[in-house]
Amino acid sequence: MGMDNQCDECAGLCCRYFALPLDTPEDKGDYDDIRWFLCHKGISVFVEDGDWYISIKNKCKHLLEKDHRCRIYGKRPRICRQYRHSKCDYVEGTYNYKLHFTSDKQMEEYMKVKFDNNVKKKGKAKKKAKKRK
Ligand code: SF4
Ligand code: SF4
Repeated sequence: MGMDNQCDECAGLCCRYFALPLDTPEDKGDYDDIRWFLCHKGISVFVEDGDWYISIKNKCKHLLEKDHRCRIYGKRPRICRQYRHSKCDYVEGTYNYKLHFTSDKQMEEYMKVKFDNNVKKKGKAKKKAKKRK
């Protein structure tokens, strides 16, 4: 989002999505609501420092495709101005979130483990162990 050298080498990763805070899910219904978000294209959900966020992949209209620069740099919104380059998507590389869901299937699996009794979980582990032999 800036004119730093690192941005010259980046395709404007930070301008291709936005993330919003979510209420922390408490019961199974709350997790199922998040599963619903994840049924949609371009949606992922992550947890950072205990806080839940939804990330929506959607390119900013002002990001120029030819050089990945901001078309309205001089009057870019506050959120863009406050973005910390030192910890940006390009610098950090792979995400290190405690939880990161990119599909409803992942949430389904997570909910199985979290809310169903552990008998199923053990059964699965056994099956896997058998396969390896
Ligand atoms: S992700 Fe980082 S390097 Fe890339 S444009 Fe944004 S601030 Fe610059
Ligand atoms: S306004 Fe500019 S800096 Fe902000 S997200 Fe859009 S392209 Fe990026």
